[in-house]
Amino acid sequence: MLAPDYSARPKEMKYEFWSSLPFALVHVACLAVFLPGVGVSWPAVALCVALYVIRMHAITGWYHRYFSHRSFKTSRAVQFLFAFIGATAVQKGALWWAAHHRHHHRHSDQDEDIHSPGLHGIWWAHVGWICCEKWKGTDYDAIRDFAKYPELRFLNKNYLVPPLLLALVCYLLGYWMEVSYPALGATAWQMTIWGFFISTTVLYHATFCINSFCHIIGRKRYPTGDQSRNSLLLALITLGEGWHNNHHYYPGSERQGFYWYEIDISHMILKTMSKLGLVWDLAVPPAHVLEKGRQPLSAEAPQQAA
Ligand SMILES: [Zn+2]
Ligand SMILES: [Zn+2]
Repeated sequence: MLAPDYSARPKEMKYEFWSSLPFALVHVACLAVFLPGVGVSWPAVALCVALYVIRMHAITGWYHRYFSHRSFKTSRAVQFLFAFIGATAVQKGALWWAAHHRHHHRHSDQDEDIHSPGLHGIWWAHVGWICCEKWKGTDYDAIRDFAKYPELRFLNKNYLVPPLLLALVCYLLGYWMEVSYPALGATAWQMTIWGFFISTTVLYHATFCINSFCHIIGRKRYPTGDQSRNSLLLALITLGEGWHNNHHYYPGSERQGFYWYEIDISHMILKTMSKLGLVWDLAVPPAHVLEKGRQPLSAEAPQQAA
């Protein structure tokens, strides 16, 4: 597919039926919980929560902090592993995701930003741009540093393989429980609907909240020249992404919660992984950035530290 044409706006910013259909069907599939024989059980809810947390970390810690911002280092094997896990979140490949995200940082809340709630409305920033054919392609020039790895290009092109495998694993797990532990009440379809469809849908909207609500609600600590905000609520839901104003001011930092009281669960996970030697060189915000954040926000000219 061709690289996206970022300049072709705004008349081409429209919801397109065929582009929106798979995304819409993931939502519709959640309603299957009401069908006879599906329902709910505690293993199904546990699987839904576990896959939410694992995949949210893969998106925030890896698609975002690693592939988009290179804020820490890792081995090629672990890089591939998290590109694969991230792809199970059905947000396309890491190269597509990171290339778009780098574009967002270069043009945040300016004309070229493809998901600015201030310019295009909350709903467009939240899901609209995903339902538009215009940005389906990957700008490989913007992500050359990772596009050089053939395994990542493979995942980027075959981005439906990991989620389909995950859905199959959920189904087989449910089938095994249905046969081996019928007292638990779990079934193959129940585990598929909860583990894959409901978990993915919640994951979608939690992730998209950063594009929409994190540019609208919350507190501005830094003068970033855009509308990015810090929100504890969104930070908790997204494992740390809610510290979005911090992040827009200094995107090179691995941790987005800059102070001890800014809870950043993905940072805690990465910190633990660094102790295990799986990742290293976690970039931190410099002292002058932390000091500036302690000062009251003045009406000075916007500037960025990164
Ligand atoms: Zn942003
Ligand atoms: Zn970012």
